[in-house]
Amino acid sequence: MKILVINCGSSSAKYELFDVKKDCSVARGIVDRISKKSAYSKAIKTIEKRLTDPKKGAIKFTGEIKGIGHRVVHGGEDFKKATLITNDVIEGIKKYNKLAPLHNPPALAGIRACLKNFPGIPQVAVFDTAFHQTMPDYSFVYGIPYDLYKRHGVRRYGFHGTSHRYVAEKAAKILKRPLTKLKIVTAHLGNGCSMAAILNGKSVDTTMGLTPLEGLLMGTRCGDLDPAIVAFLIEKKKWTPTHINNVLNKRSGLLGISGISNDMRDILREMKRGNARARLAFNIFVYRIKKYVGAYAAAMKGLDAVIFTAGIGENVPAIKNIVAKDLRPIFGRRVKFLIVPTNEELLIARDTYRLIVKKYISKGDK
Ligand code: ADP
Repeated sequence: MKILVINCGSSSAKYELFDVKKDCSVARGIVDRISKKSAYSKAIKTIEKRLTDPKKGAIKFTGEIKGIGHRVVHGGEDFKKATLITNDVIEGIKKYNKLAPLHNPPALAGIRACLKNFPGIPQVAVFDTAFHQTMPDYSFVYGIPYDLYKRHGVRRYGFHGTSHRYVAEKAAKILKRPLTKLKIVTAHLGNGCSMAAILNGKSVDTTMGLTPLEGLLMGTRCGDLDPAIVAFLIEKKKWTPTHINNVLNKRSGLLGISGISNDMRDILREMKRGNARARLAFNIFVYRIKKYVGAYAAAMKGLDAVIFTAGIGENVPAIKNIVAKDLRPIFGRRVKFLIVPTNEELLIARDTYRLIVKKYISKGDK
């Protein structure tokens, strides 16, 4: 039995097919350069064709696919866990388009295209925000008029939830201790970067906020910032909101500080050549990670492990080593610093399987 996982971004549709019995991936790929909404339907057709192409050793019938899991970035306060897709759920996801204008509309286009192309196959939405819905109000409410939260949903939501959850579960297995008794800080360091404080298996704080702009320094995003800087730029430079958004999201972070690149590989290479701004970008990147480990240890009143994952977290052990060395005087050797490769798609496949088994599949069919 197979589960298909679809991740529709603003210009691409990634897919991965899982054999749920073996709990492993059997095919994966990407259809890119999607330029408009209507093209997602074509992209899903292409995926279906590729999956059934015998030349590529593919499955014989798409009928083998018993469920489809979709990555959806923003589920707001309505979706606290993975959810079977119905018309109401589609309307619910649409409600959060305004909070994730780049991410939710393509996910919805992918869901609609799959409903059309794979009629009758149950589909599940797995939300990036869901894992963080356990945060207490004092970590998700901002210090602005409360009405803005109540009326407009302005609060911390957090993202990368599926990845934080996956690596926390994996870390507990590696440490041979129950997740429900651990105080873990996870650092997802990819193009986007975020950290989470995971107390007894539940997210109690995370660095990203209303949008994925807050928190750590990222490839092109600024992370934490004095909000008065925005007003300063509007008044002094006459920048428009669109321009400010563009600068803070696309021209800041590692790229903005180094003036070289948003890619950590380039930053490391230039640092070795003695480039001072590449070194500064790297130092800021690592400094913020250290700061949040300390903050989250305080939030959880203790710490057992710090987990590094995603493109940078998995491939640059130097970052883990610097953080571990610098924090050792505080935490001693008892706190473990680990690299754990993430696999959001696998967790989406497992969530999808769990939900459809509950609802549709008799035990014999597993
Ligand atoms: P995404 O958030 O888009 O899923 P990834 O998790 O793949 O991104 O992370 C992408 C980033 O990982 C790249 O921008 C790059 O900086 C970094 N990266 C990937 N491989 C390496 C490597 N071998 N050494 C250093 N950095 C790497």
